[in-house]
Amino acid sequence: MADLFIKNALVMTCEPDVISGRVIENGGVVVDGDKIIALGKTEELEPLYGSSKKVINAAGKIVFPGFIITHTHMPYVMGHNQPVDFSQLRSFWDMLQKMGWEWLEDLITRDGIYASTRYAAAKMLKSGTTTVCELVEAPNDLEGALEASCAAIEEIGIRAQLGYEVTERVPGKSILDCLDKKMAERGFEENIRIIEKYPKGSSSLIMPRLGVHTAYTNSLATLKKAREIADEYGCGIQIHIAEIPRAFLVEKYGKSAPMLLEEAGLLGPDVVAAHCIDIDDEDLNILARNGVNVAHTPMTNSLGGNGVARVPEMMEAGINVSLGHDCFFTLDTAEYIRYTYLIHKAHNANPALMPPFVPLDFALGNAAKALGMKKSIGSLAEGKKADILIIKPDCPTPVIPASVMSYFTMTFLGKDVESVIVDGKLVVEDFRLKTGNEDEIMQTCVKESALLWARNEKI
Ligand SMILES: [Zn+2]
Repeated sequence: MADLFIKNALVMTCEPDVISGRVIENGGVVVDGDKIIALGKTEELEPLYGSSKKVINAAGKIVFPGFIITHTHMPYVMGHNQPVDFSQLRSFWDMLQKMGWEWLEDLITRDGIYASTRYAAAKMLKSGTTTVCELVEAPNDLEGALEASCAAIEEIGIRAQLGYEVTERVPGKSILDCLDKKMAERGFEENIRIIEKYPKGSSSLIMPRLGVHTAYTNSLATLKKAREIADEYGCGIQIHIAEIPRAFLVEKYGKSAPMLLEEAGLLGPDVVAAHCIDIDDEDLNILARNGVNVAHTPMTNSLGGNGVARVPEMMEAGINVSLGHDCFFTLDTAEYIRYTYLIHKAHNANPALMPPFVPLDFALGNAAKALGMKKSIGSLAEGKKADILIIKPDCPTPVIPASVMSYFTMTFLGKDVESVIVDGKLVVEDFRLKTGNEDEIMQTCVKESALLWARNEKI
C-alpha cells in the first residue's frame, strides 16, 4: 500500500546517469508522500503495492525522470512573437538591448511576472520539465518581483530555484555611459527578502538562488558582495558568463569575464553560469578549476550570433554542463535536447560527438548536480523525490530498450508527456494541468501581454 503505483511501463531510471541507468521492461514505480519508495518489475511490485491509493496502468508508455532546466526567464513568454524589425538587429547588442531590455525587461510589472510565470510554468510542466532555475528581471517594478514569481510557481506546482538579477544597469541608459550601484543594492535586497522568506527546507518547491546579471554590468565591488551573500546564506549564484564577444570585456577591462569573475572571487561549484560561448583556453581552465556549472542555452546562443559554445571541450575539461532555455523560444525541453544533440555534430563536423544520452543527461543528472540537488532529483531511485513523467510515444515504430534513446533525440516532443508528478503530486494527468484552469491561466497572460505590448511605444 502506497500513495501511487505506476505499472507495466518501460521504466528508464537514468540512475546514476542515462547510459548506465537501469531500463526496466514491464516495470513499475511506487510513490509514497513526496518520495519514490520502490522500483522494479511490475510482477514483483504488484503483490505489495497493487492496492495503492492510486494505480496507473502505463502499458505502452515510458516512465522517465522529470527534466531540469538550469536557466530561464519565464516572463520572456510575453515577448514571444514580438514584432521586431529584424533588419535592425545586426549584433548581439541589438538583440539584448532591443528585444530584451527595452522591449520587455524594462516594461514588465509584477502582475505581468505573476501571469507569465504561471503560464510558462504550466507549459513547462505539461511538456515534462519539473524543475527550473529562474532569473527574474524587472528594474522598473523591482520590489516584490520575486514574490510574484514565487506565488505563481507555488500555485502551478513546478519545482524552482530562483533569484532576482542583480545589475548596476539603469533602465533607459547605455551601460557604456552609466552604471549605478544603487540598482544593484535594490537587487540584493530583493534577493535577500526571498532568501530569508524561504530558508532551506521551508518549502518543498522553492529554493532561492542569488541572481547576478553579468560581469560587464556590475562593478568588482558588487560581484564581491554577491559572493559574500551567497556564502552567508549558502544559496548559490546564477549568472550569465561570456554571452557577448570576449573582445568587448578585454578591450574595456583587459580581462575576460571568467578572469574578472575569478578575481572577484565569485566563481565556485555553487555557481550556475548561463551561455559561456566566447571563451578561450584560459577561460575554459578558469571555469574548470573553479568547478563552475555551465547552463548551455543553444538557441539563444545561436540567435545572438556569438558562435557555438565549446561544449565538447568543456566536458573534456571536466566541466559539468547542463541545459538552459532562456524562455526566449519554445518552452519544450525536447526541442533544446534535439538542438544540442545536432548542433555540436554539425559545428565540429563530427557525428560521433554528442551521443543521445549526453544531452539527456544535461537535462537530468548534470542539471541536478548544477543546482546542488543530485541527491534528490534528476533520476528515478528509491529515496529520491518523486518527480516523474509518463510519456506516450507518438510514432509508428516500437519504443523498446534498444530504441528508446533514439526516440528521445529523433521524435520525442513535449506534447507526448501524458502525466507529470512533482514532489509526489500528480500535477498533469491525461495531458491536462491539475493545479489550475488552463484557460484562465492563458487569458490572464494574454491580458498582461497586451498591456506590456501597449506600453511598448515601438508598436
Ligand atoms: Zn539569461
